[in-house]
Amino acid sequence: MKYVGAHVSSSGGVENAPLNASAIGAKAFALFTKNQRQWFSAPLSELSIERFKQNCAELGYTSDQILPHDSYLINLGHPKEEGLEKSRESFLEEMRRCEQLGLTKLNFHPGSTLKEISTEECLVRIAESINIALDKTHGVCAVIENTAGQGSNVGNKFEEIAFIISHVEDKSRVGVCIDTCHAIAAGYDLRGEAGVSTMLSQFDDVVGLQYLKGMHLNDSKKGVDSHVDRHESIGLGEIGLPAFKALMQDKRVDNIPMILETPDESKWAEEINVLYSFCN
Ligand SMILES: [Zn+2]
Ligand SMILES: [Zn+2]
Repeated sequence: MKYVGAHVSSSGGVENAPLNASAIGAKAFALFTKNQRQWFSAPLSELSIERFKQNCAELGYTSDQILPHDSYLINLGHPKEEGLEKSRESFLEEMRRCEQLGLTKLNFHPGSTLKEISTEECLVRIAESINIALDKTHGVCAVIENTAGQGSNVGNKFEEIAFIISHVEDKSRVGVCIDTCHAIAAGYDLRGEAGVSTMLSQFDDVVGLQYLKGMHLNDSKKGVDSHVDRHESIGLGEIGLPAFKALMQDKRVDNIPMILETPDESKWAEEINVLYSFCN
């Protein structure tokens, strides 16, 4: 079973996200559980939590189909003590919000060296940040997203993600989300019919498919190894439709949330339709 959806708005309250997902025919969705441009937010109200759970149950979304995304400000590999502490506190708050909502995964961008520490040092810090958060929470898996390798962001190569995981103590609660746009930008040529299959095999060899907990389905404005993170609507970018068709037919990505973060929201319903048409 493929769970395809989009990163929908939770404006007006998290309880609106499942409604927005259902309205576009999504079988999965991503959401921010708070304002993604703020470090901290007011706690979720009991009413909001209850309505979120109720809407998910009524519309048929289980936690397996939901992939919340954390704030863009968080850098779990921050080179400076103050930034690192703030990031760790904010991330813990995000994990707790997921717990409250009955969600089992939290998707985040690994972090950035800000050109002040080595990549390895940054990766070790990220793993330590994950360990701290997992220690203080229950049931939520920390899902590392591969990056485009833009600027000083780490985690564009599968080896770097594997390195983080190797330093995480509770391996049952760490996972990976592969973003197709970030993958091509990082140098994984997933174009054509065979590209996706090769990329997933590489991922299996280096990280292990058991860690794959979600995907972001984005075409890319930039080509292979560009290290530039610019999403494009499905089929209109460098990746192209044959690759997405191959992906939708690959059983290795069954039963995980596959989330569109493409730039034109008005196309999401159609993109979901097109992707599902490839499953047959
Ligand atoms: Zn993404
Ligand atoms: Zn991106």
